[in-house]
Amino acid sequence: MSNLASILESRLGRRRLGWLRLLSEAGRDRAAGIYLVGGVVRDLLLKRPILELDISVSGLDEALALHLADALGGRLTARSQFNTFKIAVGSTVIDLAMTRGESYAHPGALPDVWPGSIEQDLARRDFSVNAMAIDLSVDAWGELLDPMSGQRDLERRLIRVLHPDSFADDATRIFRAVRYAQRLEFRLEEGTADLLKASLGGLDTISGDRLRHEFQRVFAEPHPGSVLSRLADLGVLEAVFPPLGRRSGPWPDENGPSDEAEELVWLSTLACGLNAGEAAQFAQRLNMGSAWAAVVRDTVEIEGILNDVGSPGILRSSVYHLLHQYHPGALVGVVTTHSEGLARDSIELYLRELRQVRPELNGRDLIGLGAEEGPEIGRLLETVLEARLDGIVTSRAGEESLVRRLIS
Ligand code: ATP
Repeated sequence: MSNLASILESRLGRRRLGWLRLLSEAGRDRAAGIYLVGGVVRDLLLKRPILELDISVSGLDEALALHLADALGGRLTARSQFNTFKIAVGSTVIDLAMTRGESYAHPGALPDVWPGSIEQDLARRDFSVNAMAIDLSVDAWGELLDPMSGQRDLERRLIRVLHPDSFADDATRIFRAVRYAQRLEFRLEEGTADLLKASLGGLDTISGDRLRHEFQRVFAEPHPGSVLSRLADLGVLEAVFPPLGRRSGPWPDENGPSDEAEELVWLSTLACGLNAGEAAQFAQRLNMGSAWAAVVRDTVEIEGILNDVGSPGILRSSVYHLLHQYHPGALVGVVTTHSEGLARDSIELYLRELRQVRPELNGRDLIGLGAEEGPEIGRLLETVLEARLDGIVTSRAGEESLVRRLIS
């Protein structure tokens, strides 16, 4: 068995190490086993950045969680039905979970959960590289628990399920496998890849909310394009929603320069190529909220007007009118997917420049210049905006003389 105490010391930093030592002692007070588990162990061994501390505690209940929070000088901020808790220490959140066993009544069901040993807890996990723990107890501080040979798979750079029913029990693991493989630049172990392909039908059992959450996690990866492309190649996208299978690559590697919410841009990338009816069904399948559904709908509409947007010599004001009703995330998504042509130039011009253009004059200014209150004001502002967009006026004085001409 290897001891990772020196890795803990060199990689976690004084503050986090101090918390683990406090937890270790507080665990001893209550005779509880206490372990660092899952992704954090994987990332420690891979020398990747450690973003969160996930801790499993044997027999964890609310009283014990409170005891541990007190020992850290922190606050219990959340608890769930499966005896998981969050402790806030300053601005850091530490996740605590009861070591547990799990079973699945039927594919796609949420698991039945019961208190279990750390070995049972590791055996219920998704992949060997995520099924390791580091013992934090005072007597065994730093010992690596690796019953599923995760360390060997880290060395071989493999994502491997722990048992043949894994994807059937929980088809969201299909997404997880692909995310980890692309993120870590690992391969899917051969048997795992076969099981994955054979289990695609199980995605039908996954609720829209859970599927949406999986896509959200894909979009939050460092390279979502590579994950989407792999999901497409493996037939996962088609299994989720058949029209997504028509999509042929390439998937954008990175987004274009944009400060739009990345998540919505990637969603739009995913929706490219659907028709209006399919877009609505896709939104329904993922039980999307209004922002997501609007981006999917907008993406399809924008693709439908690409010829108009890209017509040679199109006025800047016409580009504005064609595009201003759409979500910028959808515009960026379409532009990054359709990588060439005049339409792309027009959309980029809109995103970079046109969408910020506003007249300097406002309604009150127009009344001051003699315009009649009421709908005429809106029409005049519109005309001034168009003149601004097309470069016919470039200053406040120019706007004023245009308005005077229009109302004289
Ligand atoms: P990330 O780096 O993406 O946050 P993570 O490994 O911390 O990775 P989480 O989704 O936070 O991933 O889950 C924590 C741990 O819980 C995982 O490492 C894995 O052991 C286990 N786990 C999470 N989801 C599942 C699942 N669907 N099936 C089995 N085990 C899971």
